[in-house]
Amino acid sequence: MIILKSPEDLDRMAAAGAIHSRTMKLLAGKIREGVTTEELDQAAEKYIRSQGAVPSFKGYRGFPGSICASPNSMVVHGIPGPYELGRGDIISIDIGVTYDGWVADGAVTFPVGPITPIAQKLLDTTKASLFDAVEACQAGNRLGDVSNAVQRRVEGEGLSVVRSLVGHGIGRDMHEDPQVPNYGEPGRGPLLEPGMVLAVEPMVNAGRHMVRMGDDGWAIYSQDGSLAAHFEFTIAVTAEGPRILTPWHEEGVG
Ligand code: MG
Repeated sequence: MIILKSPEDLDRMAAAGAIHSRTMKLLAGKIREGVTTEELDQAAEKYIRSQGAVPSFKGYRGFPGSICASPNSMVVHGIPGPYELGRGDIISIDIGVTYDGWVADGAVTFPVGPITPIAQKLLDTTKASLFDAVEACQAGNRLGDVSNAVQRRVEGEGLSVVRSLVGHGIGRDMHEDPQVPNYGEPGRGPLLEPGMVLAVEPMVNAGRHMVRMGDDGWAIYSQDGSLAAHFEFTIAVTAEGPRILTPWHEEGVG
């Protein structure tokens, strides 16, 4: 069941999203060679709590971190820890913020210093696919139009959409209906209506699409060891068009 949100609900979600975006900006300023993902996690948690909000991921199904930090071939769900960022790494940071009972979810993959041309292409394409998806979040479209927008961009650049992981509806719960695959056929699936809120999150491998789980039971890696990127917005469908509720790009991030 897809839960529609009122305009007032969307403003509350945007308040959570504003904290989210400022947290992303804070971490963007800390990402450099030698920083551990644990240090990023602690900075994020401290800031989120200072705003009267809660890091949504902490304790979710036992997840120990406040953020997910996933370097290089890790696609998503990295547990923050002693890993030190290295020159030329890419690092995907996923943050969930719960404020006043509403959840905002978003992710950015950052370069650590200069990166290879293929890594840059991966980041540019994954981010572009997310903005293509935003454009497709129009009332009257169907969910398949959003999914297809991501797939078309990514595969058009010779990269691979991870198929076994999906975006999701979001609201008072972090994961609501519907599931939002990053591949699909245009014109298919649920009708997009004003008040629908989607966490759209392209996960893209530079190599093939398959993934594997790491030994900790959380981390997901590209199966072939290729680099992976992850960009995510929480997006509301409104009568006036798509509204990005986690506007990290407006903070100069990503
Ligand atoms: Mg998400």
